[in-house]
Amino acid sequence: MQAFVFIEVKEGALVQGSLEAITAAKTIGDATAVVVGYPELAAKAAEYGAPVICVKADGANPDEIVASLEAVAKAKNADAFFFAGTQLGKDLAPRLADRLATGCVTDVTGLEVVDGAVLYTRPAFGGTVIEKLKNHGKVQVATIRSGSFDKPAAGAAAAVEEFDPALGDVVKAKIVEAAKEITEAVNLEGADIIVAGGRGMGDAEGFKLVEELAAVLGAQVGASRPVIEEGWISRAHQIGQSGKIVAPKLYIACGISGAMQHISGAMASKYIVAINKDEDASIFGVADLGIVGDAKQILPLLIEEVKKRK
Ligand SMILES: Cc1cc2nc3c(=O)[nH]c(=O)nc-3n(C[C@H](O)[C@H](O)[C@H](O)COP(=O)(O)OP(=O)(O)OC[C@H]3O[C@@H](n4cnc5c(N)ncnc54)[C@H](O)[C@@H]3O)c2cc1C
Repeated sequence: MQAFVFIEVKEGALVQGSLEAITAAKTIGDATAVVVGYPELAAKAAEYGAPVICVKADGANPDEIVASLEAVAKAKNADAFFFAGTQLGKDLAPRLADRLATGCVTDVTGLEVVDGAVLYTRPAFGGTVIEKLKNHGKVQVATIRSGSFDKPAAGAAAAVEEFDPALGDVVKAKIVEAAKEITEAVNLEGADIIVAGGRGMGDAEGFKLVEELAAVLGAQVGASRPVIEEGWISRAHQIGQSGKIVAPKLYIACGISGAMQHISGAMASKYIVAINKDEDASIFGVADLGIVGDAKQILPLLIEEVKKRK
């Protein structure tokens, strides 16, 4: 199978989720990366082992990107086209699927080829069920959930091919200005360590312990929804079904019960530590390490210990 991956560029850098999608593509066949615009980044993308098609178009305009990807898919007889599960990926994937008269599977966490057909695994109903599905269209189009696949190791650069889609006038809408909220600076999706706090931290003062532990660990701060509703921290920190989906190497959940709507956003974490005073809390069902106790007593000890070891 010839699987293509759209390599997203944000603020001058390759988006990690796109690189993870290369690994996803390799599970079903030969992977080719596609960089639209940004010729200066094509060689960087090629370091991740897949040959790169560098498309001559405006990589900052979604209309040009989608038209370019359609041209690549048709010229190269693509069997599959994958995207990172980012805001842009979720915008482009269904548009490309429509142009290729196929379906689009979103939020994919696993892939396999069964009897010659791609079988997708993805969470549904807020992560309460894991479903398997097939796209019966001719071309497979999907968005890959961040953290579900490892980024390929960088090494010897693969080949870069230039491609001119000869688009003509395809732009229907132009982004004139993108307003950036300060809260967007919270990079939970790219974090290696997240310390998250829940209602069990008691109040805004108690929640500061979560922020303090995150600071000494060089981690990002996450939170459950009640914490946001109480106003202890901004919405940009919410993890879960109606918040962000994260996949750090280490997720430390403090005073979080483990409701499915929260855990569905953190279940791709590689190692979960849970601190909860209720030994029956459902968070312990998904934790790799569970600590039964009062987070307000345990966190100061942890903070001191980390400081000592530093
Ligand atoms: C449509 C929908 C979408 C939702 N989206 C989200 C979402 O995106 N993210 C999200 O988080 N929630 C979401 N929720 C809410 C979710 O269902 C839960 O209500 C929420 O996750 C619970 O948050 P919590 O674990 O902090 O609080 P609680 O459920 O109140 O749990 C607090 C936990 O802290 C423990 N605790 C108390 N004191 C201490 C202490 N001193 N030390 C240690 N442990 C202590 C308790 O034993 C308990 O387990 C959503 C709900 C719906 C209906």
